[in-house]
Amino acid sequence: MPKDIEKKLIHHITEHSRPLRIMHICGTHERTISKYGLRSILPVEVEVLSGPGCPVCVTPTIDIDFAIAIAKSGAVVASFGDMMRVPGTNGSLFDARSNGADVRMVYSIDDAIELARNEPQKDVVFFGIGFETTAPANAAAVLRGLPKNFSILTSHKLVPPAMEVLIKDINVDAFIAPGHVSTIIGTEPYQPFAQKGFPIVVAGFEARDVLLSIAMIQQQVDNGVSKVENAYPRAVNTQGNITAQKIMKEVFDIVDSEWRGIGIIKGSGIGLKEEFEQWDSAVKYYEIYETVRNAFSESRSKSKIGMPDCMCAEILTARAQPSQCPMFGNHCTPKKPVGPCMVSLEGMCYNWYKYNIRSDKN
Ligand code: SF4
Repeated sequence: MPKDIEKKLIHHITEHSRPLRIMHICGTHERTISKYGLRSILPVEVEVLSGPGCPVCVTPTIDIDFAIAIAKSGAVVASFGDMMRVPGTNGSLFDARSNGADVRMVYSIDDAIELARNEPQKDVVFFGIGFETTAPANAAAVLRGLPKNFSILTSHKLVPPAMEVLIKDINVDAFIAPGHVSTIIGTEPYQPFAQKGFPIVVAGFEARDVLLSIAMIQQQVDNGVSKVENAYPRAVNTQGNITAQKIMKEVFDIVDSEWRGIGIIKGSGIGLKEEFEQWDSAVKYYEIYETVRNAFSESRSKSKIGMPDCMCAEILTARAQPSQCPMFGNHCTPKKPVGPCMVSLEGMCYNWYKYNIRSDKN
């Protein structure tokens, strides 16, 4: 793989090698790292950990159960394709569709709105997942005005509050900050982590971007400093996308939210403000939600329900690698995924399987 610039970066990283545990929080970074085999060419002391950066993977089972229950009640559930294949307590949205529920695949909230407008006799629910990157499109759609027969099941997550938990629970020295998320939030929200002693570098998605961010982190550590640096200035600035932040504030309140593998993180999610509650699936389908919640809390086991042997929870928090899961590559493959980390194109299991990676050094 190495071209000239990548070769130079690898040489630089190797020359300055020291024990470092660097975590990224981005499914696209994992794809780049796996595709180019970057872990295998880094010095053994430099570990690159995969954090909870795959939006499909971190969506908790209870939200999937809620979407399935809504679909079974007769509404249309419009979802991204990956999300349809993730198992809930009793099967996936895809399974619900096979059993007669009306579940449709969409590529955006606008597709789902068009569906609602074209079929006004049906109630349409859009399953909104993802990080700060995808939420502004939903906020903009709400402000443009939504049809009466439409609502949003909001399961979005915010990255900085999750980092607060990660620095307490995981042995990590530094972060490669997510490029896409940072285009929206800017680099400012990472300052508190730098002040606590964690070097942070925002990275783009080419192999050279990731290698550069590692070299920059090493340099900070060598110089005994921890600060926020931007290695992706072609897309990210300090303040982020002010317009996107403004419309998100207009439409959403910050709420506590559950992450698969981590549990409930304070202030890590968003919910529609009261003035927009007529389009909030959690309000519109409150009774269904209560039924799902009660059933769920009876048999709760930290987001492992429906796939008890799946190690996604451990993988999302860098406590295990895909190849440590006994089902990896045999009972669990992209064609027949058992857990979300093998479903999503941004999942660590999917990428390790696709690029034939069996350990962090091959
Ligand atoms: S290989 Fe499959 S079962 Fe194992 S952790 Fe990954 S997604 Fe879960």
